[in-house]
Amino acid sequence: MKDIASLEDLGQALLTGRIRVVDCTATLGPRTPLLKLPPEIADDTPPIEIHPISKYGDRGPFWAWNWLKVGEHSGTHFDAPHHWITGKDYPDGSTDTIAPQNFVAPANVIDCSAQAAADPDFLLTAEGVKAWEAEHGEIGEGEWVLMRTDWCKRNGDAALYLNADETGPHTPGPSADCIQYLMDKKVLGWGTDAGIAGGMTPPYPAHNLLHANNRYGLASLVNLSELPPKGAILIAAPLKIENGTGSPIRALVLVPA
Ligand code: MN
Repeated sequence: MKDIASLEDLGQALLTGRIRVVDCTATLGPRTPLLKLPPEIADDTPPIEIHPISKYGDRGPFWAWNWLKVGEHSGTHFDAPHHWITGKDYPDGSTDTIAPQNFVAPANVIDCSAQAAADPDFLLTAEGVKAWEAEHGEIGEGEWVLMRTDWCKRNGDAALYLNADETGPHTPGPSADCIQYLMDKKVLGWGTDAGIAGGMTPPYPAHNLLHANNRYGLASLVNLSELPPKGAILIAAPLKIENGTGSPIRALVLVPA
C-alpha cells in the first residue's frame, strides 16, 4: 500500500506544481539540424518536411492535418540497439520490442557546459564521471546519464550546431573509457557521441558500446540546464515504429520544484 500512497503523492505533486515537467525536446521541423555524415558515406538522413493535407479548406472543411517526412534519427531522438551493428541481434532491440519500463528512469546530469564552451572537442572521461560521482553521489544501475553541454543554445543555427570544418564535426561527447565505465555500471542509456568520435577506438564508442550492451542512446536533448544533477525522472519514449532503429521523442523530465 505504501507504493500506491507514494504514486498518489506523485499525482498531487504534479497537480499542485510541486513537481514540474521540463521539456527537454527541440522543436521538430524543416529547420532541425541533421547530422552530416562524411562524404565517403552516401546516405544522410533527408531534411524534415511537413506537408499540409488540408487546413479548414475545400479538401477538409472542418479540420487541419499534416503528413510528415522525417528520418528516425532526427532532432531530439532515441537510438535503439538495432541502430548499430553491435546491437543488431537483440530480440528486444527495436523501438517496438523494448520493454516500456525502460523508457522511464532516474536521470544523472553531468554539467560539462563550461568545458564545452572552452573546447568544442571536449571529451568527458571515466575519471571525469568518477569525480562527478564523488561530489553528487554514485550513478546507479538502470539510470540515464546525460552530459549537459548547453549545445542547444546553438539550435537556431545549423552550421553553428553541427560545427563542422574540413576535418569533420566538432562537438563535445564522451571518451570510449567513459562509456565503458558506464556500461560496467549497467546504466540505462547516455546522450550521443562526440563530433570526432568516428576516429576513436572503437569508432563512435557511445553508439558501439551502448548498443552492444542492449542499452539506449539519446540525441539532441535541450534545456538540461534546468535539471538538477540528481533527483529528476526522465521519460524518453520512442514511437512504436515497427522494427524501428530509433525515433524522435518528446523528452519529458519530472523535476522537484
Ligand atoms: Mn540517432
